Amino acid sequence: MNDYLCKKIEMAKISINLKEGTVKKQSDIIIGIDLGTTNSLVAYIKEGNPVAVKGKNNKNTLVPSIIHFGKENQIIVGESAKEMLVQEPEKTIYSVKRLMGKSFNDLAQFQNYFGYQVIDEDEEKLVKIKVAHKYFTPIELSAEILKELKLRIEEELNAEVFKAVITVPAYFNDTQRQATRDAGKLAGLNVLRIVNEPTAASLAYGIGKEMDEVVAVYDLGGGTFDISILEIKDGIFEVLSTNGDTFLGGDDFDRAIIDFWIKKSSLIEENLIDNKEFNQKIRLEAERAKKYLSNHKQFSTTINNIDFSITQEEFNTIIDPIIQSTITICEKALKDANLEKKQIDKIIMVGGSTRSSRVKEKVTQFFEKEVYDKLNPDEVVALGAAIQADILAGNQKDILLLDITPLSLGIETIGGLMDVIIPRNSKVPSRAGRNYTTSIDGQTNLKVSIFQGERDLVENNRKLGEFILKGIPPMPAGIPKIEIHFIIDADGILKVKAAETRSGVEQEIEIRSQYGLSEEEMALMLLESIKNAESDMNKRALLEAKVEAKNIILAANKFLKQNQSILNKEEIQQTQILTLQLKAVVEGNSKDDINEAMRQLNEYTHPLAHKAMDATIAQAMKGKKI
Ligand code: ADP
Ligand code: MG
Repeated sequence: MNDYLCKKIEMAKISINLKEGTVKKQSDIIIGIDLGTTNSLVAYIKEGNPVAVKGKNNKNTLVPSIIHFGKENQIIVGESAKEMLVQEPEKTIYSVKRLMGKSFNDLAQFQNYFGYQVIDEDEEKLVKIKVAHKYFTPIELSAEILKELKLRIEEELNAEVFKAVITVPAYFNDTQRQATRDAGKLAGLNVLRIVNEPTAASLAYGIGKEMDEVVAVYDLGGGTFDISILEIKDGIFEVLSTNGDTFLGGDDFDRAIIDFWIKKSSLIEENLIDNKEFNQKIRLEAERAKKYLSNHKQFSTTINNIDFSITQEEFNTIIDPIIQSTITICEKALKDANLEKKQIDKIIMVGGSTRSSRVKEKVTQFFEKEVYDKLNPDEVVALGAAIQADILAGNQKDILLLDITPLSLGIETIGGLMDVIIPRNSKVPSRAGRNYTTSIDGQTNLKVSIFQGERDLVENNRKLGEFILKGIPPMPAGIPKIEIHFIIDADGILKVKAAETRSGVEQEIEIRSQYGLSEEEMALMLLESIKNAESDMNKRALLEAKVEAKNIILAANKFLKQNQSILNKEEIQQTQILTLQLKAVVEGNSKDDINEAMRQLNEYTHPLAHKAMDATIAQAMKGKKI
């Protein structure tokens, strides 16, 4: 072979920005993003370790999840936007994560929470936010935060990135996850995976690599509290339960300090409390105090010539009720998971607010176990996301890929019905099986058609493939034992196996396009399944009745043939009449008529079947062959 043919040519990918005239490298790195309610950050694996990325002129890895619309509607994200929160609340958007995938109806009771305009164009539809005569969806706004993070890491790597893993709370539903994916897409990121925040936090602590365990992830952020109980088995993370309070967090600590100061200080006049500037200052100072008290005994400051101070002890006393409510929620989560405190192997601290030493103290006290807090609690989710990204990139072979199936997988059964074998949102890798049999006497081939989707009838779902199980030895209907197994491996590839266990006949098919649907198609299919649930159910019931009726007719005919000598004339005639009546309604469209005719036939033939059985047994007792 010619030498030159063997040489591997390293081709650097580059992209040229025509507008700026810059040339940029393209990086294959998959980044990990924690898109938080209060703060967001981006991380990646640098020389084998996950690191969170700091801004260019910024020491901080956290980007406040705040978007400000400036004079010419130019968009500012992060620390500078946070400064505008009090000055221009109507043009400064915070907590946009709370709006992801929500309709106005979902938010009705929290209307006062938002300082900006949440629009109720249509109560059923997803919300929009109005800023300076323009409407934005929460997806677009989240995309702005993601763009900022993308920029941050591109500056660090001096290369463009395109692929990301983004974390979401474990309780996020499909719409919210989809919205998060879409935000990524808008920001120019291909979101390879949406990962649960508690899963990411566990990964950051290296949990799941060596042994099976049960982990509680206690996440107290700025405005939300989440507790998740996870079970990790063979590298698969399963959420046993989640609970929380979407309006409980570090902001409440700040508010408690403000209330404490206002109550204590006789110098604050009424009008000061309504003063915007004073409010902003006292809020920022309260947060500063809180952070300072995490490792100091006392904090003092002066605002508008008024002295304020608070000791750690005082702080602990005022936040105790808030911490207590998180503990009550932990109890509920344990109960939902059917677990006792002592069955929890590890407790992981997540969220900036767990830096308050009192929180750690109380959580340790409750679980009667030391908590895991070595990693930065406000970075741990992003670090875990970076690890997940690295696994996806194929750099960490000892960990399984974690994912869930976006749509149900199943096979077609008689009447065109979808029989789900692996339900939607099942964890990957996954396997499940079910037994089937034949519906016709002497059937030697069985077609196995595999579908994906949520509708009851396969015609509305997406066909993934089919194969024929051939060579089943001829047997009466219902006798062959056919096992169908679905196996999704860690790469999301579905294998379907069918085997007739009495004869050992086997067949297998591999389906690679498990995720071949575009996200739009997937969202549409889910939507359709919700919209059509009722009519599907009716159709399904009718089809099921028809299938059952046809089986009963076959069985009745067989019964008459086999038992002619045992039954009297009237019994034979009446059975024939009732069978004909059932035959007549089976082709119609009334499941009630079919069910009624089936009931009559069943009721009449039931004692006859007993009679036939008794006769057979009696004959057998006589030593005759049956
Ligand atoms: P989220 O997940 O909601 O985006 P974070 O995990 O970033 O939120 O937590 C933000 C909260 O953590 C804020 O209320 C912030 O004041 C609080 N926080 C940050 N540092 C400290 C600290 N040293 N002590 C106490 N609270 C802190
Ligand atoms: Mg968080």
